[in-house]
Amino acid sequence: MTHIITSLCVREGSCVTVCPVECIVPGEPQEKWPWFYIDPSTCIDCGACIAECPFGAIFPEDDIPETYIAFGDEKQTAPNGTPGFTEPFDGFDYEGNPVHLEATRNLEPDQEINLTEDIHFNYEYFDSGPGYSALYEDWD
Ligand code: SF4
Repeated sequence: MTHIITSLCVREGSCVTVCPVECIVPGEPQEKWPWFYIDPSTCIDCGACIAECPFGAIFPEDDIPETYIAFGDEKQTAPNGTPGFTEPFDGFDYEGNPVHLEATRNLEPDQEINLTEDIHFNYEYFDSGPGYSALYEDWD
């Protein structure tokens, strides 16, 4: 198994600081890979990142809700150009650095979304996407 970061991620990033095997990587370029991603072949399922995420974006893969019921006001993020994700988001990461995301949407209270649709992005990021190279290349 592995842990998975879902579309509730807004790049706050504190998960990276607690991962004992350093397998959480910020997505780059952000337009295409807007979340942080967990390398499924390296994750040891310790669970430390779950408690660290203030947005509740991380789940054990087997526990990701097919029917996630929103509290309301959560942001859901998607690659730029995804239909329905039309609101920009401006926030801060755990170090106080600004975070800007172009394609988000605000979830309404009791809105139901299927977070299992986010699983394959974590695998693809390392199978066919940038993977760990995102840590070493200048994407700005
Ligand atoms: Fe890292 Fe543990 Fe989270 Fe896996 S569950 S990504 S090993 S902190």
